[in-house]
Amino acid sequence: MTKSWQRFHGFFRRSIFLKLFVVYLLTAVVLLGGLRAFKFWTLDEGNFFQTPWGRILAHQADYLLGEIGSPPDPEKARRIAEEWGVQIRVEGSGASWSTDSRLPSIPSLRIHDSHAQSHFQASRFRFHPVIIANDDAQRVALFFLHRPSRNVDAWMLMLLIGMIAAVLTGSYWGVRWVLRPVGWLNTGAKEIAKGNIDHQVSVRSPDELGRLAESFNDMAQQVREMIHARDRLLVDVSHELRSPLTRMKVAVEFVQAPSTKEKLQQEIRELEIMVAELLESERLASQGGQLHLVATDLVSIVKEVVGTYASQEGAEARLVVSPRSLVLPLDRQRVQIVFRNLLENAMKYSHPEKGPIEIRITAETDFACVAIRDHGPGIPLDEQSRIFEPFYRVDLSRTRETGGYGLGLNLVKKIMEAHGGEAVLSCSSDRGSTFILKFPIR
Ligand code: ADP
Repeated sequence: MTKSWQRFHGFFRRSIFLKLFVVYLLTAVVLLGGLRAFKFWTLDEGNFFQTPWGRILAHQADYLLGEIGSPPDPEKARRIAEEWGVQIRVEGSGASWSTDSRLPSIPSLRIHDSHAQSHFQASRFRFHPVIIANDDAQRVALFFLHRPSRNVDAWMLMLLIGMIAAVLTGSYWGVRWVLRPVGWLNTGAKEIAKGNIDHQVSVRSPDELGRLAESFNDMAQQVREMIHARDRLLVDVSHELRSPLTRMKVAVEFVQAPSTKEKLQQEIRELEIMVAELLESERLASQGGQLHLVATDLVSIVKEVVGTYASQEGAEARLVVSPRSLVLPLDRQRVQIVFRNLLENAMKYSHPEKGPIEIRITAETDFACVAIRDHGPGIPLDEQSRIFEPFYRVDLSRTRETGGYGLGLNLVKKIMEAHGGEAVLSCSSDRGSTFILKFPIR
């Protein structure tokens, strides 16, 4: 298979417009062929000489035979062929000749009908009628090939090709126009998959595809309501957990056994972080909790957060590349949460003996980039796309050791999106992971 055929085949498989177009092109061809076949089938060839057309041609043949003379004169026959468009073939004991060498021999023609009163027989050559006159000495076949059409010039042919091309192009775009809701649905599904669940597909036609778009919007609405209900439930539960957690913290102080006390305090701390992260996510989404953007030096925030981890045991974090300052409109507290979450994860997983956690701050044309690279076990490929989802945790045995509820990265993502930026896991393997934060430079 050639490359261009493969490309066309690929395009054909992916384009519903082209498929529909081909389907109705084939329909047109089959219909036209069928109509022609039907017309042919209903031809009354067995009674040719009783039909008006047959009678006219028999009359005409009689006249032309008289013009050719007896024995037939080739010169006269040639003139008749030129004037009337009727080609003549003569075969017999004497001379055998024809006005056009491409005419078939008379015995090869199939006889459909014989005239009752004369020696005429009817046949057909490429859909044109043929009348054969039988004499004792010879047979004369008259091929009525003439059609009342003018000579086709090159420009006429061009016009025809242009017209066919215009009709085909017009009908292709017609199919595209009729099926444009398919494109809108496709965009809608992609937007929702990207997380833009408020996206609505515009419905501008009352036909089946328009109704499909309406159903799609209804479905998206249902999903929106389910997500809002889930978020509401989480927030309510988080609120309700705050008072029992405070009471537990007080009660734990009375526990005598130090190891049990330490374990309980750790559990309570984790629950408190989870509740705080859930409530922070909710605050970001609510009207009053929008960002408080102030021109702030991103480099100083990073340095500050890195500094808070300097005295801790375990992996060391180092700012390896950075401009002296990078002032951007930021919500200081929220950006601190972002760095804290990412650095805490990096410190939790990185192997200190393989080197320090590296942080790089660079300024591109449209955005400032902060990359945090650790030397941890990495995140399995099939889980990488899900780690920013709430409550998603990579393999449970690992999480049991490290604690956490899988909310940290989700909060990072939400804060970055609220800033008009993004958080991505740029690469991850068994040699470590690199998370990248992009802040827009407005
Ligand atoms: P948690 O608060 O439970 O740590 P996160 O949302 O921060 O949850 O992380 C989600 C999952 O991604 C966790 O299961 C964690 O194991 C994994 N993860 C996050 N950061 C890293 C990292 N730097 N290296 C390896 N795994 C990571």
